[in-house]
Amino acid sequence: MVSPIKRRLKKVIRRTPGGRLAIHFRKEKTGKHVCAICGKPLHGVPHGKRPSQVRKLAKTERRPERVFGGVLCPECTRRVIEEAFYVKRGVKDISEIDMRDRKYVEMAMKVVG
Ligand SMILES: [Zn+2]
Repeated sequence: MVSPIKRRLKKVIRRTPGGRLAIHFRKEKTGKHVCAICGKPLHGVPHGKRPSQVRKLAKTERRPERVFGGVLCPECTRRVIEEAFYVKRGVKDISEIDMRDRKYVEMAMKVVG
């Protein structure tokens, strides 16, 4: 019987130098980070790495160094910041903003001038 610890690991079949087939157990890769609004995969963030491996990377290798870096995709970031600007200048009301964006627009209002 396979050890209970190994059951959730990914099986890989490898041929050994002696010519026999052996089953090796590998930890599965972690998924990609996605945008919190639209769900698109994010760029500039590590994927396929466990938290312990990510911790060993340089700070700038972990997420983009900008507002909402590692949280929102560039398109959503741009839209949210533009909306925050309009709300702050009184062009739009916060109730006119899409429900999904509203939380981030409120955060962005602290950043925009
Ligand atoms: Zn997005």
